[in-house]
Amino acid sequence: MRRAICPGSFDPVTLGHVDIFERAAAAFDELYIGVFSNVRKKPMFSVEERSRLLAEATKHLPNVKIVAFDGLLANYMLQHDIGFIVRGLRSVTDYEYEQGQAQLIKAMHPQLDTMFLLGRPEYNSYSSSVVRELLNFGGDIAPLVPQCVADFIKNR
Ligand code: ADP
Repeated sequence: MRRAICPGSFDPVTLGHVDIFERAAAAFDELYIGVFSNVRKKPMFSVEERSRLLAEATKHLPNVKIVAFDGLLANYMLQHDIGFIVRGLRSVTDYEYEQGQAQLIKAMHPQLDTMFLLGRPEYNSYSSSVVRELLNFGGDIAPLVPQCVADFIKNR
């Protein structure tokens, strides 16, 4: 079985993330979405909330599995027989960061590989941090996030 993982904080999930999940889920038998529970900064949403919103936003993708973890990504992958990391790239800035991470993992674990999907240009400016910034100042986040996230905020 070909398994991949999309790791991230997803604080909260955006339409840019969902686009990457849909494309990665079509390319692999099983796609794990790995939610970091040990984010350095205090997250706006708890790991349970982030996982629940991810599950709702990907319920149309039957081969997606949401998992939370706080150890090293490579160890999690080796334990669960996951061979690939899939990351979305918005820009050269994303690439410069991702290059170091991917090469480090490759050097330490030659059996693991990182694959990149270029984000859609219309989602290039979407990020979890922009969503959090808008929320802090009472802005409308609806155009940037899946419906379930907008509903969750409205009812909170
Ligand atoms: P991090 O935990 O590194 O802050 P995020 O949770 O923000 O990461 O995002 C996880 C992954 O999704 C990263 O590979 C990031 O580059 C990618 N990503 C985020 N937003 C977009 C977008 N709008 N288009 C494509 N990829 C994106």
